[in-house]
Order: sequence, then structure tokens, then C-alpha cells
Amino acid sequence: MRIGILTSGGDAPGMNAAIRAATIVALALGHEPVGIRHGYRGLVAGEFVPLDALSVADILRSGGTFLQSARCPEFQDPAVRTIARGVLTEAGVEGLIVIGGNGSLTGALLLTDPQEAGDWPVRVMGIPASIDNDIALTSLSIGVDTAMNTIVEACDKIADTASAHDRVFIVEVMGRECGYLAMTSAIASGADMVLFPEADRTEEQLVESVAEAVLAVRQRGGSQKVIAIKAEGIETPTDRLKELVDQELSRRSVEQPSLVETRVTVLGHVVRGGRPSAFDRLLGGRMGNVAVRSLVQGANREMVAWQPPIDATDEVGRRSMHDPYCYLMPLDRVIEATRELLDGQSPLARWRATIFDDLEDVFLL
Ligand code: ADP
Repeated sequence: MRIGILTSGGDAPGMNAAIRAATIVALALGHEPVGIRHGYRGLVAGEFVPLDALSVADILRSGGTFLQSARCPEFQDPAVRTIARGVLTEAGVEGLIVIGGNGSLTGALLLTDPQEAGDWPVRVMGIPASIDNDIALTSLSIGVDTAMNTIVEACDKIADTASAHDRVFIVEVMGRECGYLAMTSAIASGADMVLFPEADRTEEQLVESVAEAVLAVRQRGGSQKVIAIKAEGIETPTDRLKELVDQELSRRSVEQPSLVETRVTVLGHVVRGGRPSAFDRLLGGRMGNVAVRSLVQGANREMVAWQPPIDATDEVGRRSMHDPYCYLMPLDRVIEATRELLDGQSPLARWRATIFDDLEDVFLL
């Protein structure tokens, strides 16, 4: 079987581990892996590259993606997907592995939609990769662990300098629609508070909560540093939030407001890059292995999931016979559940938002 492999959308550390595993497992099983550069854009343009054990030998340790990625908004046009099918057929590709986020998995589903593609015989498997952890029906996506480690390391460094000057830092981390990274790295770095879009706070409430945290830390004694982690998806820009917090602290005439110095650090794309953690290499490797073995055994339009939430296992997907920690989830259910997760409708989204109400006071102890 000739198996195409592509990475699409936002890059995530650990994508290379998935490419490498899919390549060498395919070779070991006697199949022929072929790389497609630049995601769907490269697919439409026929950017195929041969893959062998040598070409993927040293990619495991690098972040980003060796096949490179791209955005291809044209892929939303059915006519462009028809061209992509023709390119794959022409190249003799019989199975496709798409490594990417929610958008990329949606593209994979539409590419193989029987209503659109008729009886086109190419099968597709998805591998979730997104530092934001914004894909449903898998507990983790490739890249989340490395991103969290990067944030925690940055916050440790910021905490040193914040302690030295008794400063307040607002640290912005990536995560447009999903505050997962902000939430988990706040716990893992011992931050004093966290702001994320799922909590649905007004600008006034955001300002108030940061000011409250500063005052609480001032009152409790000991270290006077404050670390507030803010998800990128919060509408109020971080610089504006800082201005408003400063005004609020002055308004409340903290003992000497001028002594409360707030600073902003936007971690930005630093969070996306870097050498993948051991866990992301393991996750990419195991998912790549399961994707290839399932594909050659006939799987189609499914995503490899890592230990999905218990209520979403057997009734939605099926346990992989190749790895007891992996499930195969139908891609259409993944896309539907992801929409609910990002709308804040799913039980998981609601739990994530409310658990931090309970934790707010705990953080400040
Ligand atoms: P991610 O995969 O990281 O979520 P994007 O949302 O940018 O990143 O999606 C990556 C690519 O997937 C897009 O550039 C486009 O080619 C394809 N894609 C996204 N959404 C759709 C859609 N609704 N229909 C078809 N293709 C899509």
C-alpha cells in the first residue's frame, strides 16, 4: 500500500515523531510511505517526497515539522478537494495520514466524504496535533506536553525576577479558543491566578480578579511576587489589561500604589517551538504506529486518540488492538465533539471552566 503522510495547520513539537514512526512502521510492514510537503497546499500542488528510514533518521529530536506545514483556505472549496483527490489517485496513494489540528482533521473528513467523493477508494486516518489541546475525544494531542514544559520553564524564570523586585507579572500564553494550556500550566508552575476565555468574564471582572489577587498576596506576607497567567484567547489585549489593573490598584489606593509594579510577558510563538519532550516523542511515535497499522487493516475516517475521557470510549470509538492506550474515534464524531468543546457546551468544557472557580482561593494560599 502506498501511504501518504502530511502535516497541516499549526505545527506542534512531536509531529516529527509521528512522521518518523508512520514511515518506519509502514516500511517494516512492507508498505511504501510517501511524504507530502506543506499540508493540503502541497497536496494540491503534488509536492511528494520519498520517505525512507534514512530520511527520517534524525528528525525525532526537532520541533516543527520536517514535512513543513501550511494553511490552505482554498481546501474549503469542494472543487479544490476534487483536484486533491485526482493528485492522490495519479500518485497511486491508497491511504493518507493527516497529522494536524481541528481544521486539518475537518479537511481529511471532507476529502473522503462519500457524498462528495463517491466511491473514491483512498482511506484516511487522523493524528491529533495541537499545542492548545483543543481536539475532543482524546485526552492529549501531540505538542501539548512540550508547550506546557516551555511555559513552566519560562514562568520559573519570571518568578525569579518577580521575587527579586516584588513585581506582578501577567504572562500571556498561546491558546486562541481553548484555555487548556493556561489552566494546566498555572497549576504546574504554581501561579497565583489564571485567566482563560471559558470563564466568560467581562473586562471589569478580569481587572478586578487580578487586582484582588495582588491585594491578597500583599496581605498574606512572604513573597510579594504575583504571577497571573492569561490565555491569548481572552479578548482584552494584555497591555490594556495591565493598564486597567494599574488604574484599579491606584483607585483602591493600595498602601503605596507606585510600589506595585506590573509587567507583561507575551510568550507567543516560543511556546510552539523547541525540542519535543520525551512524552511528545512517545505520543507521536505510538500514534504513528497505530495510524499505519489501522490504516492497512482497513480503518478509514478515524482519528487515533490517546486515553479518551471514559464516557467517550466504547460507545463512540473502539480500542486499538495495537496499543491499549489508544482508541480509534470516528472523525465526524471528533469534529462534532470538538465544536461542543470550543463552544463551551460539552461536560468537559464546563468542568474545565468551573473547577477553577473552586481553585481560585486555593491558588492564592
Ligand atoms: P489546525 O489544523 O491546526 O486546526 P487550521 O484550522 O488552520 O489549523 O486548518 C489547517 C488547514 O486545514 C486549513 O488551512 C485548510 O487547508 C484545512 N481546513 C480547515 N478547515 C477546513 C474546512 N472547514 N474544510 C476543509 N478544509 C479545512
